[in-house]
Amino acid sequence: MKKHIVVLPGDGIGTEVSEAAKKVLEAAAEEFDHTFTFEEQAIGGTAIDRYGSPLPDETVAACKNADAVLLGAVGGPKWDQNPSHLRPEKGLLGIRKELNLFANLRPVQGFSNLLHASPLKREVVENSDLLIVRELTGGLYFGTPSERRDGGNSVVDTLAYSRHEIERIVKRAFEAASVRRKHVTSVDKANVLESSKLWREIVEEVSKDYPEVTVEHMLVDAAAMKLITSPSQFDVIVTENMFGDILSDEASVLTGSLGMLPSASLNDSGFGLYEPVHGSAPDIAGEGKANPLAAILSAAMMLKHSFGMNEEAQRIESAVSEALEQGYHTADLDLPGGQQVNTERMTETVIDLL
Ligand code: ATP
Ligand code: MG
Repeated sequence: MKKHIVVLPGDGIGTEVSEAAKKVLEAAAEEFDHTFTFEEQAIGGTAIDRYGSPLPDETVAACKNADAVLLGAVGGPKWDQNPSHLRPEKGLLGIRKELNLFANLRPVQGFSNLLHASPLKREVVENSDLLIVRELTGGLYFGTPSERRDGGNSVVDTLAYSRHEIERIVKRAFEAASVRRKHVTSVDKANVLESSKLWREIVEEVSKDYPEVTVEHMLVDAAAMKLITSPSQFDVIVTENMFGDILSDEASVLTGSLGMLPSASLNDSGFGLYEPVHGSAPDIAGEGKANPLAAILSAAMMLKHSFGMNEEAQRIESAVSEALEQGYHTADLDLPGGQQVNTERMTETVIDLL
């Protein structure tokens, strides 16, 4: 198969881990006789420095013409004081909106020999294997008005959702659950928020179309606790934008490091942008310390979700497991007795095991 992939390295370790994922995709293409072409475009702080915009038109156009997009991460202290339209994060929010990537899939899976890399007890993390389905283009991060008022002394953000927006993400979650362990936990704050009340109603309606899937409603505060005390009770979690953002960083604790969590952001037609859940990690940028596995596993998600290459994706996932089993790991994972390597070596090890 021929596929054209746009790579948006972004900032900080985004450039390092996206390069790693690209190398793994190249190796997979060779192994399975596919032709992947790559085109690099700017986003985030790098794009601000180069073009004066966190999301240049050329980047948007290239992504729209691609078969899939691979993204590193955006942001960094260099741009923290910039005015709001010149913030790197605007590039990320912008591309999600431009491509209508409303469904963010974040699988959280423990690797058996990383169990002790988690600060949680082994018994707690052992059987955790869950998927967070986060709504990505609505809610507080996009609602207007969002502004300072009264000369800066008061402030407003807006949490808005339409029925259509809730329905499509909830359906995604039920579809995902029906090929997993058939359980959906819908996370909301329905005791307080109007938006959550509509969310709950719609979950109930949609659930009627999936009789084989059990459904449970959970308040976000309770979910935050259960995720740490009994993660194995979750199969698919579906939730709105901000709750999903927070819960998925929390869930990274189960895997031992933020550097292990991949994600896919999809639109209605299966087009997707793939990126690690972690950010640009300015504290370790440029040092070759970044864990590339979240980005590499994101590339595997691309093969599966956008290209239907299940065997290829599986091969990458197995190579990652095998590399960890052999003890190879980056500095973010504390694997006693294992061999600590840099980003490049970790990537080469995965490629060798493909
Ligand atoms: P963002 O706002 O973009 O989500 P953040 O402030 O949440 O960013 P991250 O950049 O995601 O922060 O990372 C938090 C910390 O976790 C980093 O400072 C870094 O030390 C560590 N970290 C994140 N990703 C990785 C990785 N791939 N490899 C090693 N360490 C990582
Ligand atoms: Mg973060």
